[in-house]
Amino acid sequence: MKKTMMIMVLILMIICSSGLSFAQNKLSADDLLSKAQNFLASKFNMTFRYPIRVSFVAGVELDKILGDSPYKGGEVGLYKFTGGVNQVYLLKDYNYDLTYGCLCHELTHAWQKENCPNQSLTLKEGLAKWIEYKALYYDRAYTYANQINQYLADPVYGVGYRFIQKLEDKYGEAKVLSVVKGLKDIQ
Ligand SMILES: [Zn+2]
Repeated sequence: MKKTMMIMVLILMIICSSGLSFAQNKLSADDLLSKAQNFLASKFNMTFRYPIRVSFVAGVELDKILGDSPYKGGEVGLYKFTGGVNQVYLLKDYNYDLTYGCLCHELTHAWQKENCPNQSLTLKEGLAKWIEYKALYYDRAYTYANQINQYLADPVYGVGYRFIQKLEDKYGEAKVLSVVKGLKDIQ
């Protein structure tokens, strides 16, 4: 009886520890960044001149960095160009798929900063949301991808996203970035 209990506890401990390391491995900043960069480079030829740093931060921390943003409290990620570095902040311990989608979104802002910095907020967020959708879709996170596609009602993110979708219909997925690069706003 005692021996059986011991074995059960041991099995439980092994399950718990492997579960923990699995979750931590899945959200390693370096792994996630390599995955995102590979996807963006291979699918959209999106590369970066400046180094990229990804930091996982708590929600309170993220709110502090966001300052007076109207999206404060609901944001999962943030991009900042600071000291010659493309810095991405991501909410820690968040859903894996959504974190990956968010990283691709924020990296799009890094690309915009390097390639077409003077665009309207709607155009910037529209492209970033569209890339986020593509990242989720090609990673087979279809439920989350569809959520972006169907329920995006925000006047900035939603309107911008629909505009990019129209460009995709017209020019095709592969040409969207080079077309957007030459624009200032959604008209
Ligand atoms: Zn954004």
